[in-house]
Formats: sequence, C-alpha cells, structure tokens
Amino acid sequence: MTTIFYQHWHEVPEGAWRWPNFSPAEIACRGTSKLLVNEPALDKLQALRERLGKPLIVRSAYRSPKHNRAVGGADRSKHMNGAAFDIAMSNHDPVAFEAAARDVGFLGFGFYPRSGFMHVDLGPARQWGERFPVVEYSIGFQARAAEELARLPAGSAVVEMMSDYSRYTRTGARMQIKSPLIYEISLLKVFRINA
Ligand SMILES: [Zn+2]
Repeated sequence: MTTIFYQHWHEVPEGAWRWPNFSPAEIACRGTSKLLVNEPALDKLQALRERLGKPLIVRSAYRSPKHNRAVGGADRSKHMNGAAFDIAMSNHDPVAFEAAARDVGFLGFGFYPRSGFMHVDLGPARQWGERFPVVEYSIGFQARAAEELARLPAGSAVVEMMSDYSRYTRTGARMQIKSPLIYEISLLKVFRINA
C-alpha cells in the first residue's frame, strides 16, 4: 500500500496530487489539518466520482488518532489509515451510490441515514447501520423543483434535502449552492431565502 503523510495538507507538492475532483484540504483531517494520502483509497474515490458523474461531498476522510477520538470514531477506524470516506447522500440515491461504490472496490459500508451520509472503506468486507429508506419522486414534483431551482440567483440559495431520510430525521441538511445545476433537482426541495 502506498501512503504518504503530511503534517499539514498545505505541504502536498504541486504536482503530487493526482485526483482531479478532490483537494488535499477535503481529504485532510478536519481537526488537525494533517493528511495521510492513501493512494489506493483515493484511486477508488476518484473512480467512484467518475462512475457517478456528480460531486461527492466528503464529510470526513483522513482522521488523526486524536481527532478520531474527539469525534467518537471506532478505536481501529479505517479513517486513521486514510482508507475510509464519509460521503453526504444529499445529492445521491443511496442505492445507486452503494452499488457504484461496490463496483469500484469499496468493501466496508456504514449507513447513517439520520446523519445523511454513507461511510465507505477499503475493507474488510462488512456493513453496519440501518439502510437508507428508498424514495421515489413524481415527475410533477421534479418539474416543480426544477422551476423553483431555475428562478434562484446563483449562490444565494439554501436548499433543504427532500429525501426521506432528512424528513425522517428532521435535520434538514443545508448547504450553500454556487451553481444550481450541479445538484440533482429530483432530490431537492428548494427554499428561497432573503430574496
Ligand atoms: Zn466513516
């Protein structure tokens, strides 16, 4: 396995990063900014991104042992090897996401429907957590969502996820959107704020 450790993600040399859809900052430890580059894991993450054809929002990737303890991670969490990723499901169908992740070679799966993300890792093969509820949207709903989305000025909207898991948890995951087009309209209920 090829891994390279950096005390800070800023230290990654210009030409050394070869995963075009991800940045060192996204993969680095969110508590310490340290970064363990696990090349086989990042190759799979990039392959997954390309297979799905839309953004992967990385909630957590590498974690230093200290940060892993701070966030209540498992004692032998694969995040400490840089071999695990927690990906938001706000812009993905969890069933399609899991299938694609298995296809590219991820083996460990943790389902966190209440928090709206899926954990994937390099293995061993295992899974935990309750599955995401399956949900389908009518053509009418999708058309209304598309209309609302089209009216929003770029960068000025907060979107609330309309998928079953967020309704179920009432968390209403929120994020800024820069370009409405990058998100799957079929999964979003859009609210205009401070118009
Ligand atoms: Zn995880």
